[in-house]
Amino acid sequence: MIFIFSGPSGVGKSTIIDAIRQKRDFQFSVSYTSRNIREGEYNGEDYNFVSEADFLKLVEDDFFIEYEKYGRNYYGTSKNSVNDSTNSLILDLEVNGATKLLSTNKDYVGIFIDIDDKELIKRLTKRGHNEAFIDERMRLAEYQRSFQDKFHYKVDNKDINTTVSKILDIIYSLEER
Ligand code: 5GP
Repeated sequence: MIFIFSGPSGVGKSTIIDAIRQKRDFQFSVSYTSRNIREGEYNGEDYNFVSEADFLKLVEDDFFIEYEKYGRNYYGTSKNSVNDSTNSLILDLEVNGATKLLSTNKDYVGIFIDIDDKELIKRLTKRGHNEAFIDERMRLAEYQRSFQDKFHYKVDNKDINTTVSKILDIIYSLEER
């Protein structure tokens, strides 16, 4: 099964995905991106980091099953990572790529992770972002939420442990079918 995780930025998707993968052996699709590597990230593990020119060359070569420009950077999922998966696979995608993929294949399971506005502001403030940045992110969150009906499940991330068990319950119930 292929699970597509999406939701407003700052919602805690990567932390949730990491926690789920500690509980169960899921494969994770390592995307390609043209953005700069951040401290604590590893090439080939968090992303395959490539230059913008190399990314666009891969687009030309029809290497991606989907790709999007998000902010100033490109992000894409290789066809191989989806086609070669032997286990349940998790994709972490922004909403445009996620909904496009969901519309192409009804076997994909879409999980939209959300968080309430107050909590989102708290997290962004804690990360040291200024008011203008936070306002922009809140507007973006509204836009991202407008896609939520296209997902099969919606989970509110109030507390990481509850969120992880809710998502695992969803996955187990689908596997029992
Ligand atoms: P970040 O730069 O914070 O790691 O990621 C920014 C956004 O890009 C996140 O919302 C993440 O889900 C999304 N993203 C990561 N990989 C891909 C991908 O392969 N395709 C698409 N469409 N979005 C991606």
